[in-house]
Amino acid sequence: MEGGKLIVFSAPSGSGKTTIVQYLLNQKELNLDFSVSVTSRDARGDEKDGEEYHFISLKDFKVHIKNGDFLEWEEVYRDNFYGTLKTEVERIWALGKHVIFDIDVVGGLRIKKKFPEKTLAVFVKPPSIDELKIRLKKRKTESEERINMRIAKASVELATAPQFDYIIENIDLNTALSEANKLVSSFVLEEKI
Ligand code: 5GP
Repeated sequence: MEGGKLIVFSAPSGSGKTTIVQYLLNQKELNLDFSVSVTSRDARGDEKDGEEYHFISLKDFKVHIKNGDFLEWEEVYRDNFYGTLKTEVERIWALGKHVIFDIDVVGGLRIKKKFPEKTLAVFVKPPSIDELKIRLKKRKTESEERINMRIAKASVELATAPQFDYIIENIDLNTALSEANKLVSSFVLEEKI
């Protein structure tokens, strides 16, 4: 696979990485396109198939695994599989754009390992686990049990932060957005690919 660069944003859910990724996608000069993952989880709230994710059955997900269609995949939560199809990255590179990912820490580091030169791996750190809990509860899209599952995973994810190229601490959102913009623009504008 050749082409543009890969920008990975990973973080525990509720850290604000999706907001940061959406903001970067709106900065047209960065020439980014979002890698739409495939997932076996159900759509939440007003999520639409093909926008946030391609929602598929667990059975179809396993067929993709078997066929070697994924660049990376993870069972992020029990029975909830998520993965990046190789064809998704090829589609974006064929448009002459750079790929931006909103994926879990394991998937993010896997991409960095596969394409060390082409990848900028950024970890978004929430101010604290307590703040994370508050943010997840505010979303009102998930049960208490699922929120607790995400919190439990967050501590494990936080421990991987030092393996990323950069850590952005999302204490103040505007500061985090401007930091992300600076980082990504200098990475994509660099001549060397
Ligand atoms: P959510 O269910 O909140 O949309 O996502 C759960 C977690 O899965 C998030 O950390 C999200 O970034 C991650 N995720 C989404 N797509 C992918 C993917 O393709 N691969 C991996 N490894 N993780 C993903």
